[in-house]
Amino acid sequence: MTNSSPRSLHLISVVVPVYNEASCLEALHARLSAVLDHHPDVQREFIFVDDGSRDGSFDMLVELGRRDPAVKALRFARNFGKESAMAAGLRAAVGDIVVLMDSDLQHPPEVIPQMIERWQDGAQMVIAVRRSRTTDPLGRRLFTRGFYHFFRALCEVDIPEGAGDFRLFDRRVVDAINALPERNRFMKGITSWVGFRQEEIEFEVAERAGGVSSFSTLRLLRYAIDGLSSFSMVPLRVWSLAGVILAGLSGLYGIYILGEVLVLGVRTPGFPTIMVSMLFVSGVQLISLGVIGEYVGRIFTEVKHRPLYLVADEVGFAPPTALPPS
Ligand code: UDP
Ligand code: MG
Repeated sequence: MTNSSPRSLHLISVVVPVYNEASCLEALHARLSAVLDHHPDVQREFIFVDDGSRDGSFDMLVELGRRDPAVKALRFARNFGKESAMAAGLRAAVGDIVVLMDSDLQHPPEVIPQMIERWQDGAQMVIAVRRSRTTDPLGRRLFTRGFYHFFRALCEVDIPEGAGDFRLFDRRVVDAINALPERNRFMKGITSWVGFRQEEIEFEVAERAGGVSSFSTLRLLRYAIDGLSSFSMVPLRVWSLAGVILAGLSGLYGIYILGEVLVLGVRTPGFPTIMVSMLFVSGVQLISLGVIGEYVGRIFTEVKHRPLYLVADEVGFAPPTALPPS
């Protein structure tokens, strides 16, 4: 599609996961509203998903909802994690396009008009890629870079460098994502996996408007392992290769020892060799068991068929339609 025939845009949904962000919500809502005021003929809905916050974020959302009918909010029964919050938001959104963004204002709302423009030019997913990561500590930057290089090398899906969860989706893409049945959600992988016409734009990531990041090193590591094991079989398969190589090497070593015995006669030292090879092989076995455990664990969570999240409260959504008076 070209500029001359822009797609029709009646309703835009903005989906925001919220976890202990009471200090940011007011400013976020104000800036989002100001940006969308530039599109006066487009209706809007803001879908905030409170992921079990403990700092009064939900009361804040209720208050915003009282002032602005475009505000809708879901409250989870507990903290289910950002991936679940995003999934809930995407399911609740009914817009022709859906913008997904963080609630801490690290994703500046002012980028949204540019994303809409790209969509009108034909893109079905617009990925906002951060120009630099200077707001993150050095250790975390190195870890993230390392992870994405590793991920791209191992997995069938490709994640653009610097791509976060700040994205715009066409309705078709949202429907496709909502139709995926898996419980272990790794949104960055899922969004690449679905394909569609994706385009990237750059933005400068801002400092948090308040509060603190809720991703500790341990939580990031968990996230990395989840992502890898949802989208790659390589960690499972690599062990058969390692086994073949090890078996081959020990076969060669056996031949060598046989030769040695034939030529030099029996010599008994060799305790170190035995110890080293035994320890090495047991280490390899333990690692491979761990990897298999990781995948079995995933199968376990999938077969349990538990819901991704539980909603405790909601505001701003239309009440269930009453039966017409008879
Ligand atoms: N978030 C969430 N549930 C969680 C952790 C985070 O919904 O369990 C939300 C959080 O409110 C924010 C976004 O995910 O909107 C990104 O979180 P954060 O800023 O802590 O991560 P960082 O920017 O440091 O990666
Ligand atoms: Mg953040």
